[in-house]
Amino acid sequence: MCSEGSALLSRYLDAAEEYDRRHLMLLAAFRARDPQATEGFRNLVREAQRAAHTACGRFREHQKGHGCCEAIRLDDDPVLAF
Ligand SMILES: [Zn+2]
Repeated sequence: MCSEGSALLSRYLDAAEEYDRRHLMLLAAFRARDPQATEGFRNLVREAQRAAHTACGRFREHQKGHGCCEAIRLDDDPVLAF
């Protein structure tokens, strides 16, 4: 994988991790039956999901043109299924 592909993949993985963190906080807010926190985390989760989606798109775009890491496919990532 070239250094640009590697950087794009790292950016996607960071964004997906941030999504996971925020999603867990959202579930905790649900569990605590805290409507204010739930709404706040819901927005943060959406924002993180968009960021992950964008980062994934950039990585895929790079792969289309460069094909430097064909073994990695992000299609099955649940973060992207929305
Ligand atoms: Zn590349």
